[in-house]
Amino acid sequence: MVSKNWPLFFLGAILFLLLIGFSASRSPSLNRISKRSISDQDDLNFLDEEQTDLDELFGAAAKPEYGLKIDSYLSYEKLDSLIHQLQKKYPNLVRVRSIGKSVEGRELWAVQITHDVQEERKLLKPMFKYVANMHGDETVGYALMVFLIQYLVYNDQVDDRVTKILSSTDVYILPTINPDGYTKSQEGLCGSLEGYVGRQNAEGVDLNRNFPEQFEYNEDKVYAQETKVIMQFIKTQPFVLSGNLHGGAIVASYPYDSSPYEENCCFESKVPDRKFFIQLARNYANKNPMMSPGRACGFQFDGGITNGNNWYKVPGGMQDFNYVNSNCFEMTMEISCCKYPPGRDLRAYWVANKESLLDFIESTRKGIYGLVVDKEGDPVPSAKITVQGINKNITVTSRGEYWRLLAPGQYTITATATGYEPVSTKNIIVDNKEPNRLDFVLAKINGRKRGPGRI
Ligand SMILES: [Zn+2]
Repeated sequence: MVSKNWPLFFLGAILFLLLIGFSASRSPSLNRISKRSISDQDDLNFLDEEQTDLDELFGAAAKPEYGLKIDSYLSYEKLDSLIHQLQKKYPNLVRVRSIGKSVEGRELWAVQITHDVQEERKLLKPMFKYVANMHGDETVGYALMVFLIQYLVYNDQVDDRVTKILSSTDVYILPTINPDGYTKSQEGLCGSLEGYVGRQNAEGVDLNRNFPEQFEYNEDKVYAQETKVIMQFIKTQPFVLSGNLHGGAIVASYPYDSSPYEENCCFESKVPDRKFFIQLARNYANKNPMMSPGRACGFQFDGGITNGNNWYKVPGGMQDFNYVNSNCFEMTMEISCCKYPPGRDLRAYWVANKESLLDFIESTRKGIYGLVVDKEGDPVPSAKITVQGINKNITVTSRGEYWRLLAPGQYTITATATGYEPVSTKNIIVDNKEPNRLDFVLAKINGRKRGPGRI
């Protein structure tokens, strides 16, 4: 039989060899991750021995009855079904809503996880978000968000840290804001497909270049449907902190991503809250053994962090949009060399990122927070919070709340509002152990006491 079918056999053998070669070449960067980043710390056994215990990695979420799948990606349809099942089973903890649709009509799901999720947000409970997969072929963030959703839900009231996060913070997770791109992407491909199919949305738009550019206003810019939906979400919800998950490198990248200059890179574009962002980036990188050495994927990043523009200019990125157009501070985490590594490698990324992801959510409660009210105790919704020496104001919510993220230090904080006397408080110490509460009571300016004026 063999002799009769030898051409077929021969062809099969060639295909087999090609396949082996191909699959090896499909994930070279993953090999680089483990060999370079982890072995650089003399910690090659890191994944194999200590940290592969499922109970340790996922806590209660590892119980077999929950059916957590850690070595494969969920399809968009299965994500839809998972989050709705969780909402049904944990109605006081999980709320799923669509913030809008993609070009091809897929819902952009936001999974809200917090205690008493059905009730109005408790006064002064800060809002946090993770946004992943805006480049549809950068899928590790998507997978980690699927894990994180289950991790938070199943470990609530089991693990004190998770319980504290969910009682103190209103957590939103958007596993994919480019589901059309995700469904066109190919597992195992470390780079993008030709024509950036998958990276871009269904109309060929790179969503992370599609936001308004602060340094170069362009009134003719056309916004993709997904961009419009996300812009609206960012502008209307009082988020405090946000993480934007990408792949293709391993680094924590902080604003600004662009600059007023033409050069495409290699100098820092300084953000007013530079000190806080650097601390935030360091915290993420230091807890991540793939990131902290700063030598993954052929790049060199001191301490595993970089200013966005110092690496390369990203005009119209989402990170800068958050900071410039809302109260929300967003940082970009690049978490895998290989953009769409095989599902069997996902566990390694969870091991590397779990602590950083949790710590980053906890950073929502750094700095100071409080209420700005008038003498009657009513909110002053137009009020602004300014910090001496930092050129970035925070606008209070309609309920008079504010959260002002700050690095440890001593600050002078002022609350201002049109028609009210400003109030300043000096020597506020921020140590970031627990957030400091600082309320302001503003008095209306009495027109008659303004002095003689002109008649
Ligand atoms: Zn990306």
